[in-house]
Amino acid sequence: MSETIFSKIISKEIPAAILYEDDLSLAFRDVNPQAPVHFLVIPKKPIVKLADATIEDQSLLGHLLLVANKVASQEGLTAFRLVTNCGAEAGQSVFHLHIHVLGGRSFDWPPG
Ligand code: AMP
Repeated sequence: MSETIFSKIISKEIPAAILYEDDLSLAFRDVNPQAPVHFLVIPKKPIVKLADATIEDQSLLGHLLLVANKVASQEGLTAFRLVTNCGAEAGQSVFHLHIHVLGGRSFDWPPG
């Protein structure tokens, strides 16, 4: 997998507002927030997109959801939305798997 802006955030080559970090994952604020609270949860493992995850990644994917939960709670969110854009047509612009966590306002359904 080629280098992305997120691999540079993992390696600390570029700064980010990091909210949580452990051996497997990182959570940091989205630089272009779409809600009062908007952060991203990423695996340190370079998975390009959700569709590329395999059975080997099963516990890692579960871990990312629990990190989303933990940081949402840290941020005081009682309601929040998770989004993973998988592929350019779905809106993915950074090709390192990430989960958007958005909160602090109400959301429409279906999404645009
Ligand atoms: P997506 O379009 O689903 O791939 O989401 C990529 C997200 O990464 C967008 O919401 C961007 O605002 C966000 N983003 C891009 N560069 C950075 C950065 N350096 N720090 C934090 N968030 C970023």
